[in-house]
Formats: sequence, structure tokens, C-alpha cells
Amino acid sequence: MGELRMTLVDSYGRIHRDIRVSLTDRCNLRCTYCMPHDFAAWMPSDELLTTEELMTVLEIGVSLGIEEVRLTGGEPLLRPDIVDIVARINSLPNPPKLSLTTNGIRLAELAQPLKDAGLERVNVSLDTLDAERFKKMTFRDRFDDVMKGLKAAKDAELAPVKINTVLMPGVNDDEAVALVKWSLDEGFKLRFIEQMPLDAGGIWDRLTMKTADDIFAALNPVFSLTPVETRGSAPAEEFLINGGPETVGIIASVTRPFCGACDRLRLTADGQLRSCLFATKEMDLRDVLRSTELTEEQKRSEIEARFSKTVISKLPGHGINDPSFIQPARPMSAIGG
Ligand code: SAM
Ligand code: SF4
Repeated sequence: MGELRMTLVDSYGRIHRDIRVSLTDRCNLRCTYCMPHDFAAWMPSDELLTTEELMTVLEIGVSLGIEEVRLTGGEPLLRPDIVDIVARINSLPNPPKLSLTTNGIRLAELAQPLKDAGLERVNVSLDTLDAERFKKMTFRDRFDDVMKGLKAAKDAELAPVKINTVLMPGVNDDEAVALVKWSLDEGFKLRFIEQMPLDAGGIWDRLTMKTADDIFAALNPVFSLTPVETRGSAPAEEFLINGGPETVGIIASVTRPFCGACDRLRLTADGQLRSCLFATKEMDLRDVLRSTELTEEQKRSEIEARFSKTVISKLPGHGINDPSFIQPARPMSAIGG
């Protein structure tokens, strides 16, 4: 491990190697747990980092020890130069592992170009196998596009294709078993994500949310589930299905937080560096990048310093379960999930 890499160690000894990068806060769906159906409070486009600015931040991050980049949003495939961004990240010195989280709508046309540009794999979010329910849950009639996108991801070998599913009480929680069976048939790796208090509409309810225990209880009568021990810093608890080798994951951010092993930073589309989804403070990198007073060298050292300050100020946990918890001002779509 090089000396510089040590700058991304926080006060609790966690080494930060992973950054989630939001490329835009905009989206072509309106998943109810993420944003209200009439949400339109987008960031002005001149506030978003340009691709040049983004590449400067990522090059510095990689030089400080970042080994893994996940592109997200909003919907990252709405960024017009997404293929170019992937190619440029892939040609950085010491290129990081590169993946992308998407709703899949634009994957039918983009999966192969993204693969050719160096993308390793995708996570596709899908909460239901029913087109009508999809429309109700997302306020858009795009189920068929997601299915076509998933096929394209498989054909392009953006593997393993992971499926992210949020179960909501009384909405789609009856589909847990069907989604696992479908993923097994299709060769996808499914992970259920507990709904978190990060939606612009403020609909999250701790008392009624579907917990990891609820999900396990729904799957357990149908599948034999054996915990996989090698979790590392991965957020998902993985279980072998019927002895394996296939697995299903549960990301229990609320009821079984995994903050002690967290190695992630987040960069918002408008250039704010965050130590956690739930952080209430951010470091402004855009401000530095656009400074008219600093030289290029001074900008670089200031950005390095702000990476270090972000990491060093990281709290031991997200505190969702504390009575004093305050939901961050930015919704998930503006932080990058
Ligand atoms: N638009 C892309 C997508 O949906 O995959 C990327 C961004 S989205 C914010 C990233 C992930 O966050 C998705 O898997 C989505 O299901 C999840 N997500 C959004 N809001 C959430 C919430 N309140 N709780 C838990 N997961 C959430
Ligand atoms: Fe869009 Fe993803 Fe949020 Fe759904 S979860 S509204 S697809 S950003």
C-alpha cells in the first residue's frame, strides 16, 4: 500500500477505496420510495460538474487509493456522454473497477457500447415483474424497456448483472419469492434493499417498512438459505440458495447497519464530496475546480485536502436508528444511490 493511500483512512481505521459518483440528479422514472411523481426540483445544469471537472476529481481520487468507481444518479444513462465518461475513467492511470447502477431503460441501446468502453458490470433496479404494477410504482409505462435493457446487458456480458429490489409494504412485498425464482432463471444476482429515509417525498415509515427479517421470513419457507461468510466491505448479506452456487443478497442498511466496514465515499453531480449517504455535511469540490484564484497545482492539493477532510470527519455510523436522526436535505436521487 502506497503512502498516499493512507490519506483515505478515517479516524476509525476504515480505508476508503470505493466512490459512488452521481452523474445527474435527473431521472426518467419516479419510483415512489425515491421521489414524488411530480418531482421537478432538478439542479440547474450549470451547477453539474462538467466531464473535464469530473475526470480531474476521479484522477485525484484514484491517486489517493480509490480502486472502485460506481456510476449512478438520478439515472446515469441520461448523461449524454456516458459512454465517453466510461472510456475516460477506464483510461486513467491505475484504472479503477467500474460499474454502474441504472433503471435499465436505456440499456438496450447502451449496453454494448458501454461494455466496449470498459464497463465491467451493471446493477439494474427492478421492483416488480408486473408491467401494470411497474407503471403504478414508477409513474412511467417503461417495463418493456427495462426487460429489453436487461437482455442487452446479458448479451453484452456486463456480468454479473445484479438486480436491486426495494420491497414496499402492500405494494410489491408479495413478489419476493417470484423475483428470486425469476433471477435464478435469468442468471441475475438479486439483492433486496431495505427502504431508507432518503426520499424527496418523506414517505419512509420505520414501523411499516419491510425489514431484512421480513424478507428472510418470506423466502425461508421456499428456499434453503445458508449465510455466505465472506462479506468484507460489501453492503449485502449474501445467502446461498438451496446450497448454491447461486445467491440472494439482503442489504439491511436500516435494521443491520454495516457502517463499521464501510469503505465508500460519494460524489454528487454538482461536485460535493460526502462521506455517507446520510451525511449532513459535504465538501465542495466544484468550488475549488472553478476557482479563478488558485493555480492548477493549488487546486489539486486543495482537492486532495478536501478528500482527506471528508474521510477524517466520517462518523462511525449513519444514526438512522437514533432518536436524533435527521434525514439529509438531499434526496437519494441527488446524492447518488
Ligand atoms: N436510477 C438508478 C437506479 O434506479 O438504479 C440509479 C440511482 S437510484 C437512486 C440507486 C438505487 O437506490 C436504486 O437501486 C434504488 O432502488 C435505490 N433507492 C432509491 N431510493 C431508495 C430508498 N429510499 N431506499 C432504498 N433504496 C433506494
Ligand atoms: Fe429514478 Fe433510480 Fe430514483 Fe427510481 S430509484 S426514481 S430510477 S433515480
